[in-house]
Amino acid sequence: MSLKVILVEHTPNPEVLIAKAAKLCYSSVGIEEMNESMDSEKTLKFINNLMAMGHESPVEHVSFTFAIEGVSRTLTHQLVRHRIASYSQQSQRYVKLNQFEYVIPPEIERDEYAKEIFVKAMEADQTAYDKLTAHLTAKYIDEGMVTSAAEKKSIEDARYVFPNACETKIIATMNVRTLLHFFKQRCCNRAQWEIRELAFQMLKLVKHVSPTIFKYGGPSCLIGDCPEGKMTCGHIAAVREKYSQL
Ligand SMILES: Cc1cc2nc3c(=O)[nH]c(=O)nc-3n(C[C@H](O)[C@H](O)[C@H](O)COP(=O)(O)OP(=O)(O)OC[C@H]3O[C@@H](n4cnc5c(N)ncnc54)[C@H](O)[C@@H]3O)c2cc1C
Repeated sequence: MSLKVILVEHTPNPEVLIAKAAKLCYSSVGIEEMNESMDSEKTLKFINNLMAMGHESPVEHVSFTFAIEGVSRTLTHQLVRHRIASYSQQSQRYVKLNQFEYVIPPEIERDEYAKEIFVKAMEADQTAYDKLTAHLTAKYIDEGMVTSAAEKKSIEDARYVFPNACETKIIATMNVRTLLHFFKQRCCNRAQWEIRELAFQMLKLVKHVSPTIFKYGGPSCLIGDCPEGKMTCGHIAAVREKYSQL
């Protein structure tokens, strides 16, 4: 199963809203004047000034919501470390996985021997899950539980055998400030391949909606020095090329 991300919703007129917030900050206007419609030239000017000053709080008024599937629990564990965001993830507690889907890392996919070991491990996990579910369900029914409750209770514990590779689905909402921070960290070559690909796809989606806001969206090195020091990937020119063409 491969990574899929769609932009579900976003704050309407994101660039205009941010420009209005900036206008209130930097002009002697009241809220009525702030709310007057702005032409695209003024909108662009306010947003560019904000970004140049690094004044980030006005961009918090705009949020984007993504639906993500075909990713591993390894990825979502990394994703939810970004605390200034909201998440809803498909539950393994309530959804019985008759044949769980999993993500195979590309390096393993390309290597026949490694892939064989990997797939066998996945199959063993599914077998253990099925056996545990059947055993526990029968036991709980014997103890007097109705079948639906017994099955629900059994999968709560049987799911512990599932691996990090297990495919999952998640909805994530981030405001623009969080997104810019997320792109700095996760578009970087030092981020793991899976979350880096997700960040790249998310950036493409938001840049399509708000090209001015996300003009400099991408890894830290896109407009500044690499913050990774000795751990730098050493490919700054190629990274800048990739993101400037987005
Ligand atoms: C390449 C890479 C390697 C990583 N390796 C590891 C690792 O080995 N182990 C590990 O545990 N994590 C690791 N991480 C995760 C990393 O430490 C962060 O947890 C994750 O990137 C989220 O970043 P954040 O906290 O800045 O984001 P958010 O949680 O979205 O927070 C955004 C910003 O809000 C502020 N903030 C949020 N909460 C607090 C708070 N409680 N107190 C003060 N300020 C706050 C901070 O300024 C923060 O930068 C790695 C991340 C990357 C990109």
